[in-house]
Amino acid sequence: MNNHSASTVVEISQLSRQFGDTDALINIDLNLERGVVYGLVGANGAGKTTLIKHILGLLRCQSGSVRVFGEDPVARPEAALAHIGYLSEQRDIPDWMTIAEFCDFVHAFYPGWDQDYARELLNTFSLDGSKKIENLSRGMRAQVALIGAVAHKPDLLVLDEPSSGLDAIVRKDILNAVVRTISEEGRTVLFSSHLLEEVERLSDHVIMIQQGRILMDQPLELLGQSHHVSELRFSELQTTLPRIAGVLKTTGEGRSWNVVHSSSPEQLAASLETLQGELVSTRNASLEEIFIARVGRMESSSSESSGAQGS
Ligand code: ATP
Repeated sequence: MNNHSASTVVEISQLSRQFGDTDALINIDLNLERGVVYGLVGANGAGKTTLIKHILGLLRCQSGSVRVFGEDPVARPEAALAHIGYLSEQRDIPDWMTIAEFCDFVHAFYPGWDQDYARELLNTFSLDGSKKIENLSRGMRAQVALIGAVAHKPDLLVLDEPSSGLDAIVRKDILNAVVRTISEEGRTVLFSSHLLEEVERLSDHVIMIQQGRILMDQPLELLGQSHHVSELRFSELQTTLPRIAGVLKTTGEGRSWNVVHSSSPEQLAASLETLQGELVSTRNASLEEIFIARVGRMESSSSESSGAQGS
């Protein structure tokens, strides 16, 4: 056993991973603490699943180290995996079983399986235990896979794109309830998602990853407070905005501009004085606004002119 801190569930140090010429992960340092819900966000191909696979011991570290509950999940998978619930992106659960057989099957692996909680979730999803998994819709399959991941009340619940395939109600209400139930019992949740509004709703802490590097690793509350969206007005017409310290993204034209910035409103107002500009209004930025300013466009969002200026 390692002498890791009791509150640290996952410790990742200097983890790098290449696939051929692709740097999927580069010098990742990351700690996950007990009782915290972590939202993992990044564009397609950013490295989210690769990171998750290292935590599960499905990939061996090429360099650096990963410890889960103080153990190396590749060398001692049984020690680490016994405490983990995992919902894979593929929802790969055995087709030939019925739902009830699947629950019994997962139950057999985990002494902590909570049959009442499993039944409650089956009822909530209106799932019939006698149905064969191969005959389920994509969404129902996702629900069964979710039950398999959470009903043994794992100390670490890892969900890869949990919303994918779930309808809006299940996504909003039930996923929320599941994540809260797990975390309120002092357990840790790590989930990846492209739905930033969902990450904002569910997580306590955001890990933003871009091209294999961690761009941000912050409590959600601090992230919102440290990034603002401000409306600016200039006395002269501007064709482009000059470089302003802390401004990450600009949109607008003429005298009226909007900026996403990591500087404080006071710092921005001071910079504007020399440019004959003024701050009209300011508010905390949403996670989506921060993501787009930092990482670029979301795959699903419409195109928008962007003048990334670095922080
Ligand atoms: P998505 O949101 O699209 O699921 P992701 O953030 O989960 O993406 P990863 O699946 O971790 O991204 O992929 C990170 C990079 O590593 C990508 O460039 C991907 O093509 C590459 N990669 C991942 N797994 C493999 C593999 N087994 N063989 C070769 N390249 C891989």
